[in-house]
Amino acid sequence: AALPAGTQAPPPTPHVFSDPAEIGALRRNLLAWYDRCKRDLPWRTLAATEPDADRRAYAVWVSEIMLQQTQVATVIDYYNRWMQKWPTLQALAQASLEEVNELWAGLGYYSRGKRLQEAAKKVVSELAGRMPRTAEDLQKLLPGVGRYTAGAIASISYGQATGVVDGNVIRVLCRLRCIGADSSSPAVIDQLWDMANALVDRSRPGDFNQALMELGATVCVPKAPLCRECPVKQHCRAWRRKLFGKPTPVPDVEDCGVGGCPLCPPAMEPWDSSLGVTNFPRKAAKKQPRVARTATCVLERRGCHGAPEYLIVQRPSSGLLAGLWEFPSLPLDQDLQEEKQREALADHLRAWTGWPVVAGGLRFVGEVVHIFSHIHQTYVVYSLPLDGDVTLDPALTPSRWVTEEEFHASAVSTAMKKV
Ligand code: SF4
Repeated sequence: AALPAGTQAPPPTPHVFSDPAEIGALRRNLLAWYDRCKRDLPWRTLAATEPDADRRAYAVWVSEIMLQQTQVATVIDYYNRWMQKWPTLQALAQASLEEVNELWAGLGYYSRGKRLQEAAKKVVSELAGRMPRTAEDLQKLLPGVGRYTAGAIASISYGQATGVVDGNVIRVLCRLRCIGADSSSPAVIDQLWDMANALVDRSRPGDFNQALMELGATVCVPKAPLCRECPVKQHCRAWRRKLFGKPTPVPDVEDCGVGGCPLCPPAMEPWDSSLGVTNFPRKAAKKQPRVARTATCVLERRGCHGAPEYLIVQRPSSGLLAGLWEFPSLPLDQDLQEEKQREALADHLRAWTGWPVVAGGLRFVGEVVHIFSHIHQTYVVYSLPLDGDVTLDPALTPSRWVTEEEFHASAVSTAMKKV
C-alpha cells in the first residue's frame, strides 16, 4: 500500500536491528567487553566519581570538545592541565581568551576553546551556573554543542538513554548492518541516529555509548579491523558476509534484495570481496583542500640582556586561528614569483613598521607546509635582523617582542612553531 505523503518507508530489515533478543544480547556483549577492556581516561574517572551533576557534565563536556578531531593520546595531557586550571564552569567563565588560547595552543581547531569558554560564560550568567539537564536542552541552549556532544554529555553525566553518532559509531553501525550508501548523506545519518537510539542500553546508556565508540577506536578500526576479537561479531552482517560471501554477485540486483535500496552500496560500486568488512562505510569523495601561500617574516633584535627577541603580532579575533599570535605574515597570490613575493612582504612590513625595509634585506629561510582541515598552507619564511627598535602603532595590530622561551609559552599555533 502507498505510504501517506511525507512519511518515509521503514528501512529494509537487513539494515536495522528489529529483534529485541538480538538487541539485548548485543548490549550485554558490548558492555561486558567494555568493563573488561576499557581504557583508563581522566574524564571517565571524573564522570564516575564526581557527585555533583554540574561538575560532572562540565568535565564530560570539556573532554568531548577536546576530543573532536583530536586523538585521545594527545588530549589527555591538555585535559588534565585544563581541569586543574579551571575545575568548574565558574572558573572557566572568569578566564581570559588569551589564557584559553595559551592552554589550547597545539591542540588545533582553536575556535573550539574559545566557544567552550563563551558557552561557560553563558551558563554562569544566564542559567545561574546550572547545566541543562537533557540532550535536547543542552543542544538548544549551549552554543557550540551539537547533537553528538549533547547526547554524550546527557548519557554519560546524567544517564539519559539517548544514543550518539560520531565517526567511530558510523563505522561500527554501517558494518554491523551492511550500510553502504554514502555515510555522510543526511538520509544515512538519520538512519544511524535512529539505530543508535534504539540500541542504547537503558540502564547504562553512558557506558554503552562509550563502549560503541571505544569499539570503533580500538577494534573496529578503519583499515584493518580486528574482527576475530570483536565482542559483537555474531551480530555483524559485514563479518558474516565476509565469511560466507555471496554465490555470484549480480550487479543489477541490490544487495539486500530490495531493488533500489537506499542503504545498500550503489549499484555501480557493489560489494568488493577483496575489501571484506571495510566495504563499509562508504563516503562520497572528499573535497580537495584549498591551496594557500603566505609570506612570513621573523623579525629579530637583540633584547636588553643580549638574547635574541622576535616580533609577534596578534591575528584578528575572528576567522582562522582567531586571536592567536604569529610572526608578521601576508597572504600571497598564487603563482607569485619569488622576487615579487619578497617585494610584497617588504612593502607590507614597511607600511606597517615605518622601518625602511627593502626587499633585498629579507633573507629567504625556507618553506613550511602545514595542513589545516581544509587548507593546504605553505609558509614562505624570511628573516630580518634589526639593530634598532621598531614601534608599532598598537591601534593597528597588537604586537610584542618575545624571547624564544616566551614565544613557546604564548598562544601561537602549531604552524607558527614549525616556522
Ligand atoms: Fe567491526 Fe569486524 Fe566487529 Fe563487525 S566484526 S563490528 S566489522 S570489528
